[in-house]
Amino acid sequence: MASVLLVEDDPVIRSALIEVLSAHGHVVYSASQGFEALREVTQRPPDVVVLDLGLPDLDGTDVLRMLRGISQVPVVVATARDDDAEVIKLLNAGADDYIVKPFSGGQLAARLGAVLRRTAAGAAAQYGGSPGAEPANGQQSGAIPTVPRTIQVGELLVDPAARTAQLAGRELRLTRREFDLLAYLAAHADQVVSRRRILADVWRQPYVEDQTIDVHLSALRRKLGEKAAQPRYLHTVRGIGIKLVAPR
Ligand code: CA
Repeated sequence: MASVLLVEDDPVIRSALIEVLSAHGHVVYSASQGFEALREVTQRPPDVVVLDLGLPDLDGTDVLRMLRGISQVPVVVATARDDDAEVIKLLNAGADDYIVKPFSGGQLAARLGAVLRRTAAGAAAQYGGSPGAEPANGQQSGAIPTVPRTIQVGELLVDPAARTAQLAGRELRLTRREFDLLAYLAAHADQVVSRRRILADVWRQPYVEDQTIDVHLSALRRKLGEKAAQPRYLHTVRGIGIKLVAPR
């Protein structure tokens, strides 16, 4: 028995899977949106997460990255595509396994069982426990308690679940979009993210004016107390994109 967080926006699929997983003895919580899922993981750490990639508020791959910023809980991704590039992207983003839609509840239950056995053995080995240790059950296993719930970059702390951000202990007052942009860049810290990707992943509209990003970036810079000419956290890489880094 394990506690499972099922992240799925389709109510029909959700209730069918809850029924099957419950029949397999699991305790199932569910979330229908990405931010809701991140909040659930911090408030009620599950043993395993089943993550649908097509969610209304956030791209599933970004949910996965943000989730990895706050927890090491095993994640099985449910994807509609099984091409190589997609699977590689998911595994790189921190998925433990994937399952291709449409799948049966029985197949999902078997995948979860395998992931839980594997991760319980891995955690036992990593922390010096016996390999025959009790497989994931109850509240203790799954999310490793020492994992921070926030994404930290230098003195910047971003908590995607609570939607708060602090710089050197000072709370930043951000608009919804500024927060989304900062959280996205923090989840991709040290990587140059193209404007096209930001528009697609944060704005979710590929045809927004480039200036829209610039307006939000300059607001973020002001709130972080820096200037474009003397960047500390937010670096513009001309012609390529934007990078959030810890200042040296
Ligand atoms: Ca969906």
